[in-house]
Amino acid sequence: MSEANKAAFVSGYENVKSVQRVDALEIENLPRGEFSRLFIELVENGIGRPIQAPVVVARGKKDGPIFGITAALHGNELNGIPVIHQLLKKINLKALSGSVVCVVAANMPGLLAQQREFTDGVDLNHIMPGKPYGKLSDVYANRLVDRITSNFDYLVDLHTASQGRVNSLYVRADLSQPMTAQMAFLLRPQIIVHNPPSDYTLRGSVAENGKPAITVEVCDPARFQRDPIKRTLQGIRRILNHVGMTKGRPQTSRAPKPPVLCSKSYWVLSERGGMIQVLPRAADYITKDQAIASQVNIFGDVVHEYVAPEDGIVIGHATNPVGQTGERILHLGRLMTAEQKIKFEKVSGCSLEGIAKDQPGDQDVPSLKPV
Ligand SMILES: [Zn+2]
Repeated sequence: MSEANKAAFVSGYENVKSVQRVDALEIENLPRGEFSRLFIELVENGIGRPIQAPVVVARGKKDGPIFGITAALHGNELNGIPVIHQLLKKINLKALSGSVVCVVAANMPGLLAQQREFTDGVDLNHIMPGKPYGKLSDVYANRLVDRITSNFDYLVDLHTASQGRVNSLYVRADLSQPMTAQMAFLLRPQIIVHNPPSDYTLRGSVAENGKPAITVEVCDPARFQRDPIKRTLQGIRRILNHVGMTKGRPQTSRAPKPPVLCSKSYWVLSERGGMIQVLPRAADYITKDQAIASQVNIFGDVVHEYVAPEDGIVIGHATNPVGQTGERILHLGRLMTAEQKIKFEKVSGCSLEGIAKDQPGDQDVPSLKPV
């Protein structure tokens, strides 16, 4: 990019090169009005070297809340990392109230091994908040929460689909909590699924402290996807405005259309083994009894045809064709009824801008194009 084309604003993030090694996040010890790059040392490997979490703290000049963003808790779910990189280049520390704390890769060993799990094969997002005395992943999870995320007043946890699957850009959030619902809505994903956290997730461990927390599924694993990354970045900036940490345009000016709201979601599972081809795409509406997948054996004979068990929307689906009995085929979102949408508006204070009375399925699904 030529000098003339560069944006006038420079956050100064790129000029910070030094990285401090610490064993906990202590924001009060970090300088106001500066970016701090940290390696937070949580546990040790078999030769006594630290396993670290790379963290960037943008501490504003003014007091305010602590806004946490975590990426790559599943080590092969990468789209959240450039979201953080791009956000840091846009933060004006002079105008920032409070601190934005970015855990750039919450599972560094998994990232290096290009796998979802931690080094001992455990899914960190099923054991939160870990245990102070236990096996490696238990202790790591416990210290990640205790030393880092327990400081957060808000959490946006960035994920993608698992290996062998794709996702729409969607948010899981407890929509019975007004601020949580507002965060989900302002992020402007394609789909929001009402999902109270209860399953030992990082989101659940933060929500348990009464802090608003959402999980964003930024499309597909093991890659960087420009449009979903930009859409997520724009959404997080809208949330930072909304909670009063930054000042910008009104929160919903130039925002994409409201997302499709789902009251719940579940996976359609394979009943047989064989190679599966999923027919609809992520973020497509489907109707009851519509063909959604076809499964063949190794000789090419069709062994099962799958149909949609009800009307809904495709939140995500398998791309890896090889599926045993019980394989996840298609993640189906059940659309909110008009009554449920009206209740959502009441609880959250968010306006669905005239779509609340539509029949489920009438609303256009927002595209992934940045605004
Ligand atoms: Zn994940």
